[in-house]
Amino acid sequence: MVAGMTITLVVLAALTLVYFLQRTEPTGTNLMIDCPECQFAPIQTARRLWVVRSFILSTRYGDYTAVGCIECVTKVARRELFADLALGWWSAPGLLLTPYALLRTAPACIRRENRRELEKVLQAAFQVSVDDLNVGADGLSNSFRLMLRTVAAAIGKVAAVDGRSGDEWSAAIAALRDLSDGKLGLPEAEALLDQNWNRRIDPSELDREQRLVILHIAVAVADADDAVSPDEMLALRRVSMALGFDARLVDSLLVASEVNGSGEDAERRDAENRLGVEPNATIGEVRSAWKRLAFANHPDRATPEDRAAAHQKMVEINDAYEVLLGSSR
Ligand SMILES: [Zn+2]
Repeated sequence: MVAGMTITLVVLAALTLVYFLQRTEPTGTNLMIDCPECQFAPIQTARRLWVVRSFILSTRYGDYTAVGCIECVTKVARRELFADLALGWWSAPGLLLTPYALLRTAPACIRRENRRELEKVLQAAFQVSVDDLNVGADGLSNSFRLMLRTVAAAIGKVAAVDGRSGDEWSAAIAALRDLSDGKLGLPEAEALLDQNWNRRIDPSELDREQRLVILHIAVAVADADDAVSPDEMLALRRVSMALGFDARLVDSLLVASEVNGSGEDAERRDAENRLGVEPNATIGEVRSAWKRLAFANHPDRATPEDRAAAHQKMVEINDAYEVLLGSSR
């Protein structure tokens, strides 16, 4: 009798706790990558899930991280919990592991944010800082806004060579919008370029990949009218050095962009296929595709049996991106 009442009280207390935890408001973490499950809401949370599947003689088990919007991650966690409940017990090791797995996965079935886990996954996937998680009202993270300013300073100097009404200036504005994945409107992109084109290029907070992307965009802007004048070439070389690269890198990127147009290079074509981009894709589009794929295939997010394949896929995606960045030539 007393034991029964105790159990009822414990269950009631647990349900109340779950109810209140459910009501925790998300703190507004919005990532620039869409949830891989629904491809609609931004990524908001990450949860470590345990899986145990046992089949009389064999047991497969391990953990992985589900990443996505709160709705989807909770749904995935509940699915795994029920699958463990149904498929975990049917062998001796499974019998021992299943209670552990259930306990580990249970907290993830509560609808809420888990910033710590999300930060860990992002750090592993992109080496991005906590800063990258904070997205302002304009939909941009602080570090991305910083990158856009440096892009504006770099490509503005190249675009200004032909005056601020030429093809290059419009191309620079289009490139900024393209890189922001549509988050910058036309007036915002124009203002960004106006305010930053004359500033010093400060690449100190940017990593190599970001600096290479900026140089690519600068080259594409200079080439907007299909001809790079000697003055534009000079501006490009200065930008290349300000970004910490050799001035000659500009020449090889220009050659690559011409080869790109003619579609002759088999290695390039292969890389484009791997990333699923068109042969004439801009570096902004290539970068978005790479980010999406790298996230979708990150080994940390793969179920234990898919981990080796995910690792291989990740290597291929990064290699393809390196080819299209063209820095190794
Ligand atoms: Zn979702």
